[in-house]
Amino acid sequence: MYDLIIVGAGPGGLAAALDAHYLKLRTLVIEADKAGGALSQSYPWKGVDSFLGFHKKKGGEISDVIVRHVMDSGAEIKENECVLEITKGSHFSVKTSKGIYDSRTVIVATGIRGTPRKLGVPGEDLTGVSYSVSDPSEMKGRNVLVVGGGDSAADCALGLEEAGANVWMAHRKDELRATDENRESISRSSVKMLWSHEVVNFTGKDKLSGAVLSGKEGKKKLSIDNAVICIGSLPSTSCLEKLGITAEGSSVKVDENCMTSVEGLFAAGDMISSLKRIPQALATGEKAVYAAYKMIKNPYWK
Ligand SMILES: Cc1cc2nc3c(=O)[nH]c(=O)nc-3n(C[C@H](O)[C@H](O)[C@H](O)COP(=O)(O)OP(=O)(O)OC[C@H]3O[C@@H](n4cnc5c(N)ncnc54)[C@H](O)[C@@H]3O)c2cc1C
Repeated sequence: MYDLIIVGAGPGGLAAALDAHYLKLRTLVIEADKAGGALSQSYPWKGVDSFLGFHKKKGGEISDVIVRHVMDSGAEIKENECVLEITKGSHFSVKTSKGIYDSRTVIVATGIRGTPRKLGVPGEDLTGVSYSVSDPSEMKGRNVLVVGGGDSAADCALGLEEAGANVWMAHRKDELRATDENRESISRSSVKMLWSHEVVNFTGKDKLSGAVLSGKEGKKKLSIDNAVICIGSLPSTSCLEKLGITAEGSSVKVDENCMTSVEGLFAAGDMISSLKRIPQALATGEKAVYAAYKMIKNPYWK
């Protein structure tokens, strides 16, 4: 029986894991992918902004530092193990792709990337169409279409451009929904904007070779080697469904101690924050673990 199981090893889950160790809670961290969260999975190549102390460091570098810090503290992290279902009786039962674990409390910090949103157009399953880029340098010299108009799409387009790809960015609106810095970077870059354009279909035989887009002036064909679709994702709250917890928009409702409507089940990071940034994820992870600690140590702390 663990005192605490943390689901997700992004900044939110890792911050909770570090403090849980400090508080001597018997803790297990379960991560579906590789520890590090969005930093290592979505933007290892991108320079991270607004994270005090990590000026001009890349997502992958920061991820290495924070994962090492938590691992060196002695935390137990199981990677490549997906939490499928959480149920509650006298305690929590956490069912994963590899087993079942019992715990007195749970912190869920599964982020919001969950399942990438799809365009739902013909040809989207062709090889060459993806929803993230792990190594932009692999696309050097290639023709790449980035679809989307938010910060993820802008970061992706800029990362690819910097790596030497020939980049188009198609957005269904006529302005980006991104930070001023990203808007300015895009306008200074060689990224070719296709404003008010939507993808009608992708073309190719097994492998992607083109895209057909529709815009105000009619249809347009592009010859491309890759397409990266960055139009958001569905919330990663499926493991909470049996507990009756669903996302409202992209957020799960919690009280001021990060506790959900289920006693002993806490949430942290992007899935509860209106401002989805690394510092918020760290802060809420920490807050949740102190609340879990207080609950476990009851009535001592009353
Ligand atoms: C492209 C991009 C650029 C960004 N740039 C910046 C920036 O410059 N500065 C900044 O402050 N913020 C930035 N952010 C936001 C920042 O990365 C997030 O706020 C932060 O990572 C949130 O941490 P988290 O722990 O809540 O979620 P995540 O980092 O998303 O981690 C969630 C973890 O949970 C795991 N998981 C999900 N479902 C399960 C499951 N069922 N079982 C087990 N594990 C599961 C995932 O694999 C993942 O590792 C950026 C985000 C993106 C996408």
